[in-house]
Amino acid sequence: MTEQAGAAKRIAQCACGSLRAEVTGEPLRVIMCFCEQCQRRTGSVFGLSTYWMRQNATVSGPYTLYTRKGQSGKNVTFYFCPTCGSTVCWDLGKRPDELGIAGGAFFDPNFPAPTTSVWEQSRHDWVHIPASRRFPQSPPPPPPSG
Ligand SMILES: [Zn+2]
Ligand SMILES: [Zn+2]
Repeated sequence: MTEQAGAAKRIAQCACGSLRAEVTGEPLRVIMCFCEQCQRRTGSVFGLSTYWMRQNATVSGPYTLYTRKGQSGKNVTFYFCPTCGSTVCWDLGKRPDELGIAGGAFFDPNFPAPTTSVWEQSRHDWVHIPASRRFPQSPPPPPPSG
């Protein structure tokens, strides 16, 4: 059996390796986020958020859920490892057909670079931004598709 180009498998996992999210295909979006919640969640100065079609993603291993309100007012539910505490992925109430996965959990220096940077109003000056789309807060809503 040969895998088609673009159907490569990627695995994100927590620090101890027990919670994993496996995805195929390419991410829908790769976003760097400087919001307070991402900084506090990751312990780093920005979060790297990657989004995938839910149907192409499989979450396995034990997890604990943490739900908070997102900027949209809808819930965001994070899956973190009960043993080591790493957040691996999350569900967005406003986009139930997608799964968010923490970019660093792939531990892949060749992972696609972010194209969008948000909440730059709380960005540390020394962070270099590769993204071409940049916003002081949330980006405006996407144009209707189709
Ligand atoms: Zn773990
Ligand atoms: Zn954020």
